[in-house]
Amino acid sequence: MQKQTQLSQLIVLGCGSSDGVPRVTCLTKKTQTDYCKVCHEANPFNKSQKLGNDERSKNFRRTISLLLKITNSNSKDQTKSPFYHIVIDVGKFFYASAMEWFPQYDITHLDSIILSHNHADACFGIDDLRDWSKHLGQDGTMIPVYMHKKDEHKITEQFPYFESSVQEAKEKGGGGVPALEKRELIDGKPIEIVPNFYIQAFIVNHGQVDSLGFSFEGPNHEKIVWCSDVKFVPEKSLSFFENLDMLFLDLVYDLNHKQHSSHFNYDDSITFIRKHKPKQTYFVGMNHTVDYRTMNEKLKKEFEHDQNIKAELAYDGLVVQF
Ligand SMILES: [Zn+2]
Ligand SMILES: [Zn+2]
Repeated sequence: MQKQTQLSQLIVLGCGSSDGVPRVTCLTKKTQTDYCKVCHEANPFNKSQKLGNDERSKNFRRTISLLLKITNSNSKDQTKSPFYHIVIDVGKFFYASAMEWFPQYDITHLDSIILSHNHADACFGIDDLRDWSKHLGQDGTMIPVYMHKKDEHKITEQFPYFESSVQEAKEKGGGGVPALEKRELIDGKPIEIVPNFYIQAFIVNHGQVDSLGFSFEGPNHEKIVWCSDVKFVPEKSLSFFENLDMLFLDLVYDLNHKQHSSHFNYDDSITFIRKHKPKQTYFVGMNHTVDYRTMNEKLKKEFEHDQNIKAELAYDGLVVQF
């Protein structure tokens, strides 16, 4: 009998805004008036800060990326990994995220990549996938890269690896051609992303473009949504936020009334979770206006009379066990 393939861990590879935190321009400003406390505190090269994993600043944030570690219950072959690895979004800081977290969490191969939209902080790490597709892909198989039709043209224009033949790809790109295979992601349609594990994408507005949110289940049918780049959720996608056990949601900055052109601000995110009441929310996508400790205290106060809502910031390297 076919055993169920189950989600075993979610690992946040990156949870910062498109600039990442710290911003280099903040590190070069040192006067009292323009001193950015968050960026200076987050700076891993600040020699006055203690480093190491335990001491790592939770304000240090690379671009958005989530790794899903899935148990392959059918794997009897001892030479193969007992886990499937799926990554949502490989942005411009993906290489650095992978360098830090993959050895620590034993991520030796990648089975599937999913892209939310075509911005640099979501897909410019495609180039770094060469390493895994050429050397670490199981049995030399292609790594499927799922993208929506809305993003296909821009992404394939930038990365010719998805051409129909290796020869064509070489002519356009030069050098080694990674074993990546373009697959279509259709919003509203569940896709078997690795054997017996399904993810459903849905459309959200992200300012001038659309982005995708992703819905999937934990081992006990926990309803989980990852929605990292959103300005507003259209009516047709609202049902994905009903009865959620866990939500990862965009919250770009801690400036209460200032609207952002393509992301939820503090007020947007708080109003949204008050309405939809997920059991647990982790915010992602924060820029340098958000201090980890201060914001978590603010969130605690915000929901002190609402025991059913648990909301806190994610951080790079956060692991959620299932
Ligand atoms: Zn700053
Ligand atoms: Zn974006």
